[in-house]
Amino acid sequence: MSSLDSLRDKLATAHRWAAEFGFSEGIDTHLSVRASAETMLVTPFGVHWSAMQPDYLIEARFDGSVISGAYELERSAACIHGAIYLRHSDTGAVLHSHMLHATAIACIEGGTVEMIHQNSARFADRIHYDRAYSGVAFPQEEGERIAEAVSQAPIVFLQNHGVIVTGSGIEVAFDDLYYLDRACRLQAIAAGLGSPAIVLQDETLAKTAEQIESVRERNAFAHFRALQDVSALREVGRAPTSDRILAHGDD
Ligand SMILES: [Zn+2]
Repeated sequence: MSSLDSLRDKLATAHRWAAEFGFSEGIDTHLSVRASAETMLVTPFGVHWSAMQPDYLIEARFDGSVISGAYELERSAACIHGAIYLRHSDTGAVLHSHMLHATAIACIEGGTVEMIHQNSARFADRIHYDRAYSGVAFPQEEGERIAEAVSQAPIVFLQNHGVIVTGSGIEVAFDDLYYLDRACRLQAIAAGLGSPAIVLQDETLAKTAEQIESVRERNAFAHFRALQDVSALREVGRAPTSDRILAHGDD
């Protein structure tokens, strides 16, 4: 499998799992990976994430011009993702979601991810809160404004809108998206229990964040491979072969 085919396969898998985990919204929002120094693979407009296939994905330049793809490239997808890749050469994946619990935090006065659990500690000092909203991200300027926000932190909460999670590649970014959702869900549940949440002490928070950071990338790859294995299991109706397990060591 060529590296572009492998990227297509991974990004399609990420879409299907994101849908299953509740990160999708209709046929809106978009996920992408950098395919080269000038191009990206990105969500096609009109395909439900749960049905995403590798060859449905659009290959486009960062200016939004389409290289290949049978579907339309949605305008805000081109604006947001292209601007981020252009500005951040180390970014390999950009995930934009309106997932409900994180977005709810972005919709309340002064909302932040509270440091009340190890899944929250993972995001200590890794989130920028963009406290402005100027409508749907159609204009190129809005994409560039969001790209500038990514300069502050790899994860951005967009007020009254949703979240942007960026990373060096799809495995790392998807893992962050997953745990960000878990942290935000937990925060919402805890808020409804009637007692104040217990915020981690500074020293404990710093130690926990460091512990998670030391294994975050390794665990992200293991997590994504586990999801790929479940996808393969569903497709062929059998457990991963020993060949597939061994192949993991070559990635
Ligand atoms: Zn959006």
